[in-house]
Amino acid sequence: MRSTLVVASLLSVVSMPLVAQRGGRGGGRGTPIQQGESCPPGTTEIRPRNCMAPENAPPSILDYRPKSTLVTAVHLKPKAKYPAIDFHGHPQGLLTPEGLVTLGNALDSLNVRMMISADNMSGDRLKTALANIKANDKMKDRVRVLAGIDFRNVGPGWAQKAIAQLDADVAAGAVGVGEISKSFGLSIKKPDGSRLKIDDPELDPLWDECARLGIPVFIHTADPQEFFEPIDYTNERWLELSLFGDRRYPQDRFPSFETLMTERDNLFRKHKNVTFVAAHMGWHANNLARLGKMLDEMPNVNTEVGAVLYDIGRQPRAAHDFFVKYQDRILFGKDSFQPEEYPYYWRVFETQDEYFDYYRNYHAFWKLYGIDLPDTVLKKVYFANALKITKGIPQTGWPR
Ligand SMILES: [Zn+2]
Repeated sequence: MRSTLVVASLLSVVSMPLVAQRGGRGGGRGTPIQQGESCPPGTTEIRPRNCMAPENAPPSILDYRPKSTLVTAVHLKPKAKYPAIDFHGHPQGLLTPEGLVTLGNALDSLNVRMMISADNMSGDRLKTALANIKANDKMKDRVRVLAGIDFRNVGPGWAQKAIAQLDADVAAGAVGVGEISKSFGLSIKKPDGSRLKIDDPELDPLWDECARLGIPVFIHTADPQEFFEPIDYTNERWLELSLFGDRRYPQDRFPSFETLMTERDNLFRKHKNVTFVAAHMGWHANNLARLGKMLDEMPNVNTEVGAVLYDIGRQPRAAHDFFVKYQDRILFGKDSFQPEEYPYYWRVFETQDEYFDYYRNYHAFWKLYGIDLPDTVLKKVYFANALKITKGIPQTGWPR
């Protein structure tokens, strides 16, 4: 194999000047480059090691919107095939008497039976939301709420206070903890000004309490790896980083992606009796082998798919196999509550459709493909896994 490659690359080196001499479509008019070099800015590689600029002024990446001419099967999925639990719900203002009506109608139209509110509520705010939910006959068994932890001022006495608040919130009806936000690890400081590390031992009593209560802990750590890298033209999230400055983590001011992953994994390993749910597939949806290794090593860890559909749908074969292999460890969740975006998830999970658009073009400069999950896997991802780890979700009335 190796020798064939060597011969092939020798041949192309030899034939390059011939192409250049021949002229014709592009040949000869370009700028030659050396093996391994990139084309100069404003040009593209039209033949091996020969770069050319377009005749027309190129559009910016904002204005270039090519329409695909591919004609292929289309199976839109406005509703989930099985009733879903959105484990990563941010209903925000909708847990009011009027808001719950709006929420219920939206969930009905999508076949989302249950939303888990991951808005970090605690104390009176939590109690008010729970009272509103309970007062609505249609919604009383269709919304459950996770409790928030206040990570400010971690130091002596913090754990006892946090535990007392968590116990009160769970007694009031919270069914888990979350969503612990990315600021835990990225930016929250201790009273002495140092960064609160995710695996700080002062937090251990709180995690032990989560184990004792038997509640899941839903945690978002860091952000996509590219957000920690320089914003140059090789960064596949350039547009997003340029649109949303608060998603950049310059390395002189923030911990690295790997530092945060290490601290998170230390936490997961140290607290084997706590059921963790790593939001956004732990930001490893672009490296499923890494995520698989993590799930293999840490049986107490589950993962959730919110806002990483662009990575799932760009590797349909690997993602299909991953979901089948880890079918007991993956929970459906959407994150930002935009009802019109859920059908993209159903389409990726349930169909074999090819080369279709993602819902936010600044996230991904590529198309999605369906991963065509079997029904048994869909049921686990849509609802059964969430039921299994969350005792506080009504357990009856789900499909078998
Ligand atoms: Zn979230």
